[in-house]
Amino acid sequence: MNWRLSAASLALMAAACGTAPAPRPAAAQTADLVIVNGRVFTADERGTTAQAVATAGNKILLVGTNDAVSALRGPQTRVVDAHGGTVAPGFNDSHVHFIGGGMTLGQVDLAGLTTLAQVQDKIRAFAAAHADTAWVEGRGWLYSPFPGGTPTREQLDAVVSDRPAVMTCYDGHSVWVNSKALALAGITKDAANPTNGLVVKDPGTGEPTGHLKESAMALLNRVRPKPTDADRRAALRAAVAHAHQFGVTSVQNAGTSFDDVALYQQALRAGELQVRAYLAMSASSSTTEADLDRMEETRKALGNDATLTTGAVKIYADGVIESRTAAMLAPYENSKSSGAPNLSADQLDRLVAMVDKRGWQVFIHAIGDRAIRMSLDAFERAAAANAMPARGRRHRLEHIEAAAAADIPRFGKLGVIASQQPMHVPLGDMNSEHPSGPWPDNIGADRYSRAWAWKSIHDAGGRLTFGSDWPVAPLDSGRGLWVVTTRKGPANQADQKLPMGEAIDGYTRWPAYASFEEQRKGTLVAGMLADIVVLAADVFTNPPVAVGDVVVDTTIFDGRVVYERPRVRR
Ligand SMILES: [Zn+2]
Repeated sequence: MNWRLSAASLALMAAACGTAPAPRPAAAQTADLVIVNGRVFTADERGTTAQAVATAGNKILLVGTNDAVSALRGPQTRVVDAHGGTVAPGFNDSHVHFIGGGMTLGQVDLAGLTTLAQVQDKIRAFAAAHADTAWVEGRGWLYSPFPGGTPTREQLDAVVSDRPAVMTCYDGHSVWVNSKALALAGITKDAANPTNGLVVKDPGTGEPTGHLKESAMALLNRVRPKPTDADRRAALRAAVAHAHQFGVTSVQNAGTSFDDVALYQQALRAGELQVRAYLAMSASSSTTEADLDRMEETRKALGNDATLTTGAVKIYADGVIESRTAAMLAPYENSKSSGAPNLSADQLDRLVAMVDKRGWQVFIHAIGDRAIRMSLDAFERAAAANAMPARGRRHRLEHIEAAAAADIPRFGKLGVIASQQPMHVPLGDMNSEHPSGPWPDNIGADRYSRAWAWKSIHDAGGRLTFGSDWPVAPLDSGRGLWVVTTRKGPANQADQKLPMGEAIDGYTRWPAYASFEEQRKGTLVAGMLADIVVLAADVFTNPPVAVGDVVVDTTIFDGRVVYERPRVRR
C-alpha cells in the first residue's frame, strides 16, 4: 500500500472520530471564505488531507476539520460546500503559450475530432456563426481524419468558399488552407519551397494542395490579418477566463517577448490578470549579454510580485517528432535522417552557461534523445563552470518525449526538473492500443515503447512538473490528471502512470517549486496564497476513467471566487 494513501486514510479516520488535532489560529480571526465538506488534498510533502479550508484576505487561514473551520465563520463569511469533492491548490500549468492560446479562443476548435465529416461540420457551423470575419481561422486538427495525413483545399472549399480559411494543425507545424487563401497569398504551382518549408503539390497537376508545412506557413503572413495589441490584450483576458474554468490559477509562459511582457503589465495594472504568470523570456543562439541585461531590467521592474514574475529564458534545442525535426541519436524509423538540433553543442553550452551565471533559470525545449542529452550536458557543464546561484539551480527540460535510458537518472542527479505535457501522449497515439500517426510511425516501436518516461524519471529521483502546452493541447489540468493516472498506450508505457496524489502534486506543488515560488503557493497550508480548486467529485475514490471526468466546480484566486460551474440543480 502506498504510504501516502495510508496516511491519508488515517487522517480521515481521525477526523471522523473527532480526534484530529485541530490547529487553531493564535488570535480569533474571522474567515472571509470557508470551504467545507471536502476531501482536501493539501499537496504538502506528506500528502496531508483534511475536510475544510478557511481563507482571510488572499491567504489561507486554516486547513482542518469542518468544525474547526466553521468556528471561524462570521456573518459575512462566504461558504462553499464541496459536497465531498476534492479540494486542492489551484492548478499551475507549467507550460503554456498564454496569449497565443487566448487568440485561438476566437477560432474554430478542431481538437480531438477524428473524422473528416466532424471537422467539416464544425468549420461550416463556425463560418456561418461568424459571417463578418474576413478570414475563417481554426486550430487543432489531427492527422487521422485525412487520408495519408494530408488535408486538401477541396475539403476546406466544400465548407468555406466565400472567404479565405486557414486551419493550423494541432502540432503547430503545418496549416491547411482553402483555394481563396492560396489565391490571395499568390501561392500557385510555380511557388518555390522556402528554406525548411514545403508547399505540398499534387504529383499529377503540380497545383498546391492546400497543405503548407513548416516555414511555408509564413507565405500567408503578407495577407493574413495580424492581431493588433488590442486583439492580443483581449486574448489575454479571454485566456484568464478560460483558465478559471479549468481550475488553473497559475501559468508558466514558455517563450515570452518584450511586447508580451508589456501586455501582461497593462493587464496587471488594470486588475485583469487574475492568474499568476511566470514568464520565461524567449532566447536563442543569437541572444547576447545585452539581451540578458534587458531581461534583467524586466525582472527588476516586475519585482517579486506574486502575480507577475520572470527570471527564466526559453530555448528551443530541437523541433518535434511529428515533422522529424526532433534531434535523435539514431535515424527515424522511416527516414535516413536523425533530425538536427537547432544549436550546436558549443552554442548551447555557451548560452546555458551565460544565463546560469546570472542566476537565471533555463527552460530547454528538448524532445529527441539527442537534444535531451545535449541539454543535460549543457546543464552539467554550466554547474561545473559557474558558482551556485544564491537561490539555487532549478533548470528544466520541456517535453522530454524520447529520452535515452542512460539519461533518465541524470534528472535526479543534476536536479533538472522534468516538465512534461501529459496530453501530448493521447495526441500522439489517441490513447489507443494500436497507435498510428506520424509520432509512432516516425519513431518506431522500440523507441515508442520508452516514450514519455515520466515515472522512470520520478523513480530515479527527478522532479516532475506538468503542463498542457496550450494551445497545442487543451488548458485542462483535470484532463491531464486523467492521462497521468491512467496512461494508456503500448504495454511498457502503461508502467508510466502515477497515483492521483503525485499527479496532483505535478500540477500544484512541483510547478510552484519549478518557478521558485513554493514559499507562497502550491500547497494548502496556513499562510499560503488562497488559490484553490474545488472539484465536483473526489478523484481519489472516483478516479477519472475517461476524458471529461474531472470537472471543476469552483475556482478561487487570491481569496476570491472567480469561477463557479453553472449547474441546473444539485
Ligand atoms: Zn510549448
